[in-house]
Amino acid sequence: MQYADYVVKGVQQLQPYQPGKPIDEVARELNLNPDEIVKLASNENPLGASPKALAAIQKEFAQLNIYPDGSGFKLKAALANKLGVQPEQLTLGNGSSDILDFITRVLVQDGDDVVVSQHAFSIYGLLAQSLNAHVIEVPAKNYGHDLDAMSATITEKTRIVFVTNPNNPTGTWVDKQSLNQFLQNVPKRVIVVVDEAYFEYVDKADYPNAIELLEYYPNLLVTRTFSKAYGLASLRVGYGISSPELADLLNRVRPPFNVDSFALAAATAVLDDKDYLQQSLSVNQQGMLFLCDHLAKLGLTYIDSVANFISFALPSYINADNAFHKLLAKGVIVRPLGNYQMPQHLRVTIGTQSQNVQFIQALQAVLNEAKEI
Ligand SMILES: *Cc1c(COP(=O)(O)O)cnc(C)c1O
Repeated sequence: MQYADYVVKGVQQLQPYQPGKPIDEVARELNLNPDEIVKLASNENPLGASPKALAAIQKEFAQLNIYPDGSGFKLKAALANKLGVQPEQLTLGNGSSDILDFITRVLVQDGDDVVVSQHAFSIYGLLAQSLNAHVIEVPAKNYGHDLDAMSATITEKTRIVFVTNPNNPTGTWVDKQSLNQFLQNVPKRVIVVVDEAYFEYVDKADYPNAIELLEYYPNLLVTRTFSKAYGLASLRVGYGISSPELADLLNRVRPPFNVDSFALAAATAVLDDKDYLQQSLSVNQQGMLFLCDHLAKLGLTYIDSVANFISFALPSYINADNAFHKLLAKGVIVRPLGNYQMPQHLRVTIGTQSQNVQFIQALQAVLNEAKEI
């Protein structure tokens, strides 16, 4: 007997999500000094956590024996104030991945459709597949979402359409007018999830803040996270913003105490740390210019990105997976994109200046070695 024969259908064929390789794992496997390894594989904030977040965590140690506030009252109040929404519109998650999980479980069952874009974040498809739903993947346009084609695939069976804005791993984005027009085309019974994990980084006049569209589109769920620009990836805290009605439905499947006291306290504190956010955005902006400049000097083609990472294509004389492993051996962890149907691309997170230099030097060496063969 094999247990795989007995598990629910959607799980039988499921391949787990592949995260960026952790530093310790690379150090163990390649016998490298962990202190000399740079991880630019998971779009984490390279500055370390905000000092305000660290101070807030310290205060929580005395209450380690007490369950966290399951309603997340203080964090919701701070978020509501900052975003100009009501606390009843917010759902807190153990990372924003939690919110993506809730919305899928609330809406999707065997045989339903969810619509995603090619080259989009893979979690949506995995969640839907686990419930034995059909994942309709719409071909990308210039690596970005083709919203017209996505709305054209909507049928009676469609439950959710996922829009990643900006998209990971391509860094592409959809503008205000396109998003608005798309939302007008989507029937109200279909939920549109706009995943804004990289919202804070985007500096474009016609980039839409989807929260402002909530009053027009009750079928909209916006997700954001503290894992990226706010530098708290390890604590796992994110949130959804929606109508109170939709938030109430999400809350029905939310496990009690899904966000712990450290995460609640740190997230509340970092919302107040304008300097940290400002510095994070500024380091990112400079790093983006530096990396684009140097990738171009190496003769590499990259996809224009508005987030904190950049995806680039390797030239034909070296296979991207090969380049990935050669970079690992030089202590630089990036992300291969074979899983995203971009087998000749790698994605690199924008780091601190010294990390960016380390990456470019390693990449240059890898390319030179490949040319010599
Ligand atoms: C990183 C990321 C997330 C957020 O993950 P968390 O669970 O909040 O850490 C969500 N969506 C996209 C597109 C991401 O890249």
